[in-house]
Formats: sequence, C-alpha cells, structure tokens
Amino acid sequence: MINPINQDSVLPPPVGRFAPSPTGILHLGNLRTALASWLSVKAKGGAWVLRIEDVDRNRCRWELAERQIRDLAALGLESDGPILRQMDRGETYRAALSKLHADGLLYACDCTRKDLALMAAAPHAEDGLRPYPGTCRDRTLTELKPEAIRFRLPKGEVAWRDGVHGAQVDDPNRLTGDPLLHRRDGCFAYHLAVVVDDGAQGITEIVRGVDLRSVTATQIRLQEALGIPRPAYAHVALVASPDGARLGKRGGAMGIEELQASGLAIPQILGWLGHSLGCLDRPEPCIAEDLLRAFAWDQVPDQGVEFICRRAEKDLDA
Ligand SMILES: [Zn+2]
Repeated sequence: MINPINQDSVLPPPVGRFAPSPTGILHLGNLRTALASWLSVKAKGGAWVLRIEDVDRNRCRWELAERQIRDLAALGLESDGPILRQMDRGETYRAALSKLHADGLLYACDCTRKDLALMAAAPHAEDGLRPYPGTCRDRTLTELKPEAIRFRLPKGEVAWRDGVHGAQVDDPNRLTGDPLLHRRDGCFAYHLAVVVDDGAQGITEIVRGVDLRSVTATQIRLQEALGIPRPAYAHVALVASPDGARLGKRGGAMGIEELQASGLAIPQILGWLGHSLGCLDRPEPCIAEDLLRAFAWDQVPDQGVEFICRRAEKDLDA
C-alpha cells in the first residue's frame, strides 16, 4: 500500500498530535488512535503533542480533559511540550478569521438549525454529514461580528493521500459544503480551530479516526487559504463493541479506569491495542515502547476493528 507517512526520510523529524475533545472518556477506540499517532512519529524519532479541543465550551468539561491526559499518560503517551487548550486560543483564531475576511473568503450565514435540517441529506455524505448547500454564499460580509460565518470553498476536487486508505480525490463542496468557522453563539468552530492549531503546533502528520476522513479535503482548502503547509494524513478504523455499535456512541464504552477495574492491567491493554494495530501477532502484555519497532502503516488494518472489549473480557476470564 502506498503510504506517504512512511516516505518522509528527507524531512526533519515529524510532529504528530492527538487532539481529544473533553466531552467524554477516552474509550479503547480513542486510545487506539492515540497510540497509532504516537507510534507513527516516535518510530521515526519525532515529537508527539497533545491538544485539548475544548473550543465548544458549552460541551466540554475540564475534569474530563484531566482524565484523558491521565489515561494517555498511563499508557506511556505524554505530550512533548505544552498541552494546547483551544479555549485559550481565541486571539489566534480571530487573527486567522481576519485574514480570511481580508481575502474576501467569508460570508455571514443566517440559516437556522431548522433550515439546515430541512435540506436533503446527501447520499454520499459519511456519518450523516449534510453538506451546506451554499444558500447564503453570495452574501457579503462587511465586518466581523458575532454571527455565523462560513468559508467560501473554491470549486473543484482535492487530491490527497491517506496513510491507511491510499489515494483520495474528494470534492469538499459535495462532502461538507462551505464550513462554518464562527458560530452564532460567539464560539469559533471546529474546522477553523483544528486547522489553525495544527499549523501553530507544526503538525506534519495527522492520525485520527476514519469518521473525520470526509472533512479532510475541506480542512486542506482552509490550510491553503491560510498558508499552512499540508500535513500527511492517516485515518484509522473505529472500534466496534460486540453488538457492532461504535464505541462511545452508546453507553458502556470502557475507558482505562473501567478496564482496570475489571482486572486488566495496563500492559494487557497495550497488548490488545498493539495487536489490533498489527504490531504484535498475539496480544501479549507490553509497554508502548515495545511496539515501536514493529509499527508499520501497511500493517494497520483499514477495516473496522471488532470486539476488542469482548476479547479483553475473554482475556479476563482466562
Ligand atoms: Zn446560510
């Protein structure tokens, strides 16, 4: 499989990141993504940084962020350098928005949530994502005010490579439509914060869940507009619970504390995660460093990983 993330031997050491939202605990699927991002850069002598994506301050809780940081540290994954909090970054986001505004790339959107819900879902959209149909895109924006502000995507497709899934050609206009960068409630929106922060943290590779694959082309367009270099991307499969539901979408997803409470030690959890990422033939207890030598993107499965919880429970019974 062609893999850009393995081909960067001429460049300085890579910088990877994990960027959880503190809206819940990190379940096994999140921890697996975090471990993949850590292994990918650490195997090449790179740096790994953490970012707390609490830009949506109404939904985020700092005590959950603290637990996420603690759980990652328990696995041996610690940020090289300060942990960025999006809540502290308003000035930087505002500056980015001003640049886009000066370049004439923004417009105010007064569509209500109801308007947007009435617009037909696109059949190609992943994960129930509805592309914004551009209802307001011919409006002009005279000044930046606390209102809903969208980025006017250029026409055309974006070609990019995914470290797990290979060559991609996406039209962001069909996948997301013009993304919201600033919300009516005064918060900056996810796409702006992510792109600006990846640039500010010097991120050279982004490893994240496959549920975000469909927004990548949109974020690449924003990078281009802001003059931010394009990182390499790899989207790893999600982990399903025994009934096939995505972890975290239902109650009962287990985090580190729950797994430990049910008798699994950290080395066993790491063994399961390493095995699921193709680093180990069998889920043997290990520490994160043990997985570094065996990690290779072409061994990471591109299909969903199933039943990790059940396998963990089986291990518990043994
Ligand atoms: Zn609108």
